[in-house]
Amino acid sequence: MSTRADQPTASAPLITATGLTKRYGRTEALRGASVELHAGEILAVTGTSGSGKSTLLHCLAGIVRPDGGTVTYAGEHLGELPEARLSELRRTDFGVVFQFGQLIPELTALDNVALPLLLAGTGRAEAQRQADSWLERFGVRGQAELRPGELSGGQSQRVALARALITGPKAVFADEPTGALDSLSGERVMTALVHASRESGTAVLLITHDAQIAAYADREVWLRDGAVHSAATRFTVQEAARHAD
Ligand code: ADP
Ligand code: MG
Repeated sequence: MSTRADQPTASAPLITATGLTKRYGRTEALRGASVELHAGEILAVTGTSGSGKSTLLHCLAGIVRPDGGTVTYAGEHLGELPEARLSELRRTDFGVVFQFGQLIPELTALDNVALPLLLAGTGRAEAQRQADSWLERFGVRGQAELRPGELSGGQSQRVALARALITGPKAVFADEPTGALDSLSGERVMTALVHASRESGTAVLLITHDAQIAAYADREVWLRDGAVHSAATRFTVQEAARHAD
C-alpha cells in the first residue's frame, strides 16, 4: 500500500450510530439499527411507514435517547452528553426538518427562518437579509410575511428547510421534507438542497418515500423492522475521492 502523503484517505464518519434500540410500550421502533453519515454526504433513508425512520432520525439528531446502542457525533458520545451540551449541538451543528412542521405559529415565515441566527447573536437586519435569500432559494420569498397557519404544507416544508440550513450546520436531518410537494416542486427543492449541501459541506440525512427524491442522494439505505439495510450504492464523496486516486 502506498503511503503517499497526498493519498486521499477514507475520513471517519461525522455520525456513527451502532446497534440502536428504542421501544415505545410494546412497539420496538428500532431493533439494532446501525448507520454512518459522512461529512458532506447526502444519505437517503427509505422504508415503509412505521419502519422506524423518524425514530432513527430523532436518535441521530440527539432529540430522542435510544434505549440501547450508541450515537457518536465528531467523536462525542451523544448518550454521555448532558442535556445542555445536546441542545447546544442542536442549535449550532444540527438542522432539523420535522415530518410535521414545527414552525413557530406566531412568527412570519421570514422570522421563523431568521430565528436560529438571532439566537446565535446575529443582528436583526442581517438575520432577516439572510433569511430572505434562503426563502428565495426555496421558492417561497413571496410568502415571507405569512404566518405558518397561512402557508400550504409544501410551503411550510420549504420554510422549515430554509430554517434548518441558515446557520450552515454540519448536519441536516430532514424527515420527508418533500412529502407535501408535487413532483416538480419536489425536484426544485431537492436541487436547492443539494446545492446548499455541496456549497457548505453540510451532511444531509434525508428520509423519503419517493424513489425520484432518493435519486438525488449519494447513497441510500432502507429500514425494515427497525434495522438498516444497504440499498443500491452510488459513489459517496469519500468513494469518489478514493477512486480518483
Ligand atoms: P416511520 O417514520 O418509519 O413511519 P416511526 O419511527 O415514526 O416510523 O415509528 C416506528 C414505530 O414506533 C411505529 O410503530 C410507531 O407507531 C411507533 N412510535 C414512534 N414514535 C412513538 C411515540 N412517541 N410513542 C409511541 N409509539 C411511537
Ligand atoms: Mg416518519
